[in-house]
Amino acid sequence: MDRGKKIVVLSHCIINANSKVEGLSTYSSAVKSLVNFFMDSGVGMMQLPCPEMEMYGIKRWGHVKEQFDTVHFRKTSREMLRSTVGQLQNYIRNGYEVIGLVGIDGSPSCGVEKTCSSRIWGGETSEKEELWKRIESVETVSGRGIFIEEFLKLADESGVEVELFSVDESEIEGSIESLIEKIKTYL
Ligand code: SF4
Repeated sequence: MDRGKKIVVLSHCIINANSKVEGLSTYSSAVKSLVNFFMDSGVGMMQLPCPEMEMYGIKRWGHVKEQFDTVHFRKTSREMLRSTVGQLQNYIRNGYEVIGLVGIDGSPSCGVEKTCSSRIWGGETSEKEELWKRIESVETVSGRGIFIEEFLKLADESGVEVELFSVDESEIEGSIESLIEKIKTYL
């Protein structure tokens, strides 16, 4: 049977832009060039669930990492990831190759190199001046999102080694080009 036996794990919104916070997506459905690249390279794609859709739905506001750093978010993330990590473990044991996981830089959940942070974002927002101060405090910083942190912990506990890659939506074209070049060295 003709199968590549190579797998990549993708953050949910790479193949479903609809899960992103409304107003944020720079593509209408999927990151086509990346998906085409994996198809042309014989790499199967596993889609992670979207933790923010699961926990807060499509009407959620944009959050920062500090807001998701809760017992509930971490516990639910682990529950959502358990099945994927278990499947990866099974693939690896049976001779399949897991190329890596592609996350979304800048996300408080799925960021790999960069996440979204503010110590004061949240709380009461009815005062206009106070609201602007809070909005302006949001910044992109080095670090992983909470969902990725929990994925790595679970993978480590399960003996699953996964290389991490990322798409940066603030510079999507350039980041996909360099991501594809990087992944080619693993194929
Ligand atoms: S980055 Fe993660 S949490 Fe945000 S929309 Fe994509 S899959 Fe969902």
